[in-house]
Amino acid sequence: MNTILMGLPGAGKGTQAEKIVATFQIPHISTGDMFRAAIANKTPLGLEAQAYINKGELVPDEVTNGIVKERLSQDDTKKGFLLDGYPRTLDQAHALEKTLSDLGRHLDVVLNIEVDEQLLMDRLTGRIICRKCGATYHTLNNPPKEANVCDRCGESDFYQRDDDKPETVKNRIAINTKQSAPILDFYAEKGLLRNVDGSRDIKDVFTDIEKLLKNLPQ
Ligand SMILES: [Zn+2]
Repeated sequence: MNTILMGLPGAGKGTQAEKIVATFQIPHISTGDMFRAAIANKTPLGLEAQAYINKGELVPDEVTNGIVKERLSQDDTKKGFLLDGYPRTLDQAHALEKTLSDLGRHLDVVLNIEVDEQLLMDRLTGRIICRKCGATYHTLNNPPKEANVCDRCGESDFYQRDDDKPETVKNRIAINTKQSAPILDFYAEKGLLRNVDGSRDIKDVFTDIEKLLKNLPQ
């Protein structure tokens, strides 16, 4: 089961990834983990990636693609894998095609967890922090027991981190939407894209994903 998992920030990708790899016993391959492992193991590509990261530069595609190829060549991926955070560009998607064909394999499905922008905004801008005691709440998932009063210290002075402010979040969503659109199109044309409604609770979303993955054409 060779799978790519896609979804905008706030779509619940991380949670669903954990459930998929636990249920189907396949490795979760995220770019961050791959970079960390390649750097820790001092592979030639890992050292190259580290040089760019140390300079504060983006790791070029050919290095990233090489690290993905190394990872997908390892034995634990033979019965499948869940790629997360890669491909991030159309060039990387083409490189992945080539990598898989070199390895005599192919993609089975690209799962895209869809959530509309307003709900993403609600999920990602909901964190509030008590200025007096630092207690953290979420207006949607974990509000204070009494509206606008801190459970811990009784104060009513909350603030948001800059990262959680609507303008910042809106911008992050816009950048990610723009970045992922050509990749989603690419896989839709190949007939590999499956959209999953991520607006529901975690369990229902996973039920859909599980059904979909169990019924993939062999
Ligand atoms: Zn407080």
